[in-house]
Amino acid sequence: MRYVSTRGAAPPVSFVEAVLAGLAPDGGLYVPDRWPTFSAEAIAGVADIPYAQAAAQVLGAFAGGEIDAAELEAMCAAAYATFEHAAVAPLRQLSPDRWLLELFHGPSLAFKDVALQLLARLYEHILQRQGRRLTIVCATSGDTGGAAVEALRGRANIRLVVMFPEGRISDIQRRFMTTAPDANVATVAVDGDFDDCQRILKSLFRDQVFAREVSLAAVNSINFARLAAQSVYYFTSAAALGGPERPVAFAVPTGNFGDAFAGWMARAMGLPVSRIIAATNANDILARALTQGRYARASLAATESPAMDIQSASNFERLMFEAAGRDADATRRLFEGFDQSGDVALDPAALRRAGEVFTGVSASDAEGAQAMRASLASGGVVDPHTAIAIAGLRKVDPLPKGPLVVLSTAHPAKFPEAVSAATGAPPPTPPAAARVHALSERFDRIAADVAAVKAYVRAFATQ
Ligand SMILES: *Cc1c(COP(=O)(O)O)cnc(C)c1O
Repeated sequence: MRYVSTRGAAPPVSFVEAVLAGLAPDGGLYVPDRWPTFSAEAIAGVADIPYAQAAAQVLGAFAGGEIDAAELEAMCAAAYATFEHAAVAPLRQLSPDRWLLELFHGPSLAFKDVALQLLARLYEHILQRQGRRLTIVCATSGDTGGAAVEALRGRANIRLVVMFPEGRISDIQRRFMTTAPDANVATVAVDGDFDDCQRILKSLFRDQVFAREVSLAAVNSINFARLAAQSVYYFTSAAALGGPERPVAFAVPTGNFGDAFAGWMARAMGLPVSRIIAATNANDILARALTQGRYARASLAATESPAMDIQSASNFERLMFEAAGRDADATRRLFEGFDQSGDVALDPAALRRAGEVFTGVSASDAEGAQAMRASLASGGVVDPHTAIAIAGLRKVDPLPKGPLVVLSTAHPAKFPEAVSAATGAPPPTPPAAARVHALSERFDRIAADVAAVKAYVRAFATQ
């Protein structure tokens, strides 16, 4: 299988090349040249196999023979053995027709573990095969950094530098990044905000001499392998609820639109998904795009669901490419226009096609807090991101018929201040949170300065 860019001006590449590159050289995102499909029997069969095996089947369909099937199975088994729950992504029933899909049983208590635990092993496997090394630099507003550290610590041929904005993430988020003793991980507190961290990261990639010198790579959610790994839990949850006979709807708290698009991918692969409700917080660019037909940046608001505080939803480009009938020229015009002006009109036909699957909705912090209080009263408090999806559902009329699965993307213990403020009670402390509280921290401090970060990364990468 080959991977093509949504902007059509980069040569097709293999799965391995797409995973290593992340972004295509023409600025587009990689998608497979066709979507693999699963038969109804194969989908029903997912209900009877372990999660790791389902993951190996889905990833195998995308890797197209480039990675040995037995090795892929071993990587999936190792990745999901790090999860605290035997089911990996268990369903909890909320009401006769509604379930919570718990995606937070991994080592850093956020759903990003599901993809990064696997991506780390894919990287290690590919690099060992090619005899290469990579330096992965990550800018994080909280959850990605912790998941990246947990996934990449101790991996051969990989060094990881995580930048976080000093003083602007929660105590427990910082501890997930600073307590790993492994020599291949460096965590730096940047004297600035998240935008500074992102700006510095982009400058590192723009300096191609530097990027080549240290073999720079990223693990952000535009990487196709992350989406492939995330499409797996759509299959496992739908199969558990009686798919493929019974179509299932999903509600997804959305920031960069990666998780929601992974649901679209599962549908393209044959899973009967009746609808995907993409819920944003006050940073509602995606909800506005889907309801009003304009993809338009607004000013960034700091909310209680910080992992969704995003003003351009990168993976939306993949949906628009598909909705435009894979017209790469139209996609390139649209997103180059957006990069320049921050405000573009969507093609009505493409919007209509996107609307056949997606409903966009947004919810405020106050509405999220109310959903957290209601969840506590009904037997299990949810985190502020999951709460946005639940609050968003209140505004969807009519709701899709049949089973509805709400993706729960973080353990409430990851956001203790917001949960306590909303409900008056601190969330329960799982073992992973207790563990990082007991460990000592190790991190460096650095100015929000490109030259300083370059010198730091160079020294770390070449030591
Ligand atoms: C990253 C994240 C999201 C948003 O996921 P996207 O794929 O960016 O839409 C939602 N909730 C939590 C807890 C996250 O960490």
